[in-house]
Amino acid sequence: MNLFQARRKGSPLRMSGLRKFEAGSDATFMQSALSEAERAAREGEVPVGAVIVQGGKIIARAHNRPIHLSDPGAHAEMLVLRRAGRKLGNYRLKGCTLYVTIEPCAMCAGAMVVARIERVVFGARDPKAGAAGSVLSVIGNPRLNHRPEVVSGVLEGDCARLLRSFFRSARKRSRPAR
Ligand SMILES: [Zn+2]
Repeated sequence: MNLFQARRKGSPLRMSGLRKFEAGSDATFMQSALSEAERAAREGEVPVGAVIVQGGKIIARAHNRPIHLSDPGAHAEMLVLRRAGRKLGNYRLKGCTLYVTIEPCAMCAGAMVVARIERVVFGARDPKAGAAGSVLSVIGNPRLNHRPEVVSGVLEGDCARLLRSFFRSARKRSRPAR
């Protein structure tokens, strides 16, 4: 049985330890965003990752890089919006879904509204800075002229776990040596 047949029959496929989800599902794209978040963690950045999907295909991916770029605006979502805009040759990202591992902050949520993102899918809520309902309601605010559809809680556990373990080891690193 070749790989294609195995997949069609629904046999479990193990790919680099990732669980297998239905192709094209929100969970699959969130897994790609999670891979980006893991890259951020390896670079010592807060592990947040994002991808933009149009027509069922990922057209841009990015991870958090404010430390490396010395840029307070270099959140994963801002970088992925810029990349998608360049790729499409348009600052309006019509028909696009943005996947991000945690709830976007006010800056990123505002940029998504400006870009006319159609759907925003995020993993874990951010009770300290989330602007999709947790602290502020920038996305979905009825007073704004564009309201992306919002889906939350996709692979929430994995997204939150990655952040928790990053901050846990960062605290350990900052402890004075005995
Ligand atoms: Zn942000």
